[in-house]
Amino acid sequence: MNSFYEKYRPKKFRQFLGHKLIIRSLLNFFKKKNFPSSFIFYGKKGTGKSTLAILFAKSLNCKKSPLICNKCKFCKSFKHKIYDFKNIDSASNRSVEKITELFEDYLYKPIYLKYKVYILDECHALSKYSFNTLLNILENLPRYVKIIFITTEFSKIPETIISRCIKFNFQNIPIIEIYKFLKKVSDLENIKINRRSLLYISSISEGSMRDALNNLEFLFSIFGNKISNTNVINFYNKVNNNISYNIINLVLEKNKKGFILYSKYLLKFDFEEVLKKIIEDINEIIFIKESNILKLPSSIFKKEDLFKKFSVKIFYSLRRFFIKELVNFKYYLYKYYTFITIVLIVINKLEFLL
Ligand SMILES: [Zn+2]
Repeated sequence: MNSFYEKYRPKKFRQFLGHKLIIRSLLNFFKKKNFPSSFIFYGKKGTGKSTLAILFAKSLNCKKSPLICNKCKFCKSFKHKIYDFKNIDSASNRSVEKITELFEDYLYKPIYLKYKVYILDECHALSKYSFNTLLNILENLPRYVKIIFITTEFSKIPETIISRCIKFNFQNIPIIEIYKFLKKVSDLENIKINRRSLLYISSISEGSMRDALNNLEFLFSIFGNKISNTNVINFYNKVNNNISYNIINLVLEKNKKGFILYSKYLLKFDFEEVLKKIIEDINEIIFIKESNILKLPSSIFKKEDLFKKFSVKIFYSLRRFFIKELVNFKYYLYKYYTFITIVLIVINKLEFLL
């Protein structure tokens, strides 16, 4: 059985989520006479680079080019290993010998397709000598050969290669797009999972559709077609003391820049849970400050300075602000960004008090 990722992989340009500008630029090449020969697709994992490279290879060769019919003999031929199309995993072909072998006949005209297409996936794994060989190849590439370099580590690609390619940067897929797609897949697969859980999976997938679909499929394989919010939260990380204390600390320091940097680390958490935990911890601090307990719980002990420096009044205000924002929070869809905004609002409000 195909994985969700394979099953729901886009088969046509219009099914593709995001990257509209890249697709438009690729399609525009068909209108121009001067079609580039080499491309580099770079960006984070799971953002669609390999999928789009294959679609592009198809669109070059389809009978209805630049469209993809998925029905003609050319489109169908991509299912098999064919002479004119090579989808190369660079990690297992990194040596110069392998690259030379794979490209030995690149100068010959394609036999079957209109264009010979070479995709070099994870190309940052190639050796220095392989890149040198490819550089020579790039310098006299026949017009019927196209090479697509794919990488998650753009900085590792030699400048000499980059300068000979058309570059496309694949940005993270927005959480809302991931959410909508997961909703569609869960409906099609008859998985009962609520909006909050889907949003949570979308946010922990950090812009990668592949991770998001894998996460959904993984939960499905464990919990079956009824996945509760508790299942999801318990399965992934629970919000721990350190996280909420670090946030409280950054808020009290009014360190907006520090908080924004730190928030990237929080992507995988459920923000409603984070907010609740912050409020819970503020409650604990208030309790300890008011009751003058000498022996502190170990979880708080490390952060003792944090609440010694500030009056109990400040923590009451802080709690009030967070509780008010927690209520608002439930109405927004962009949880990650909403969460950042909320904390920044609280910092701003606190500025008038400290
Ligand atoms: Zn076709």
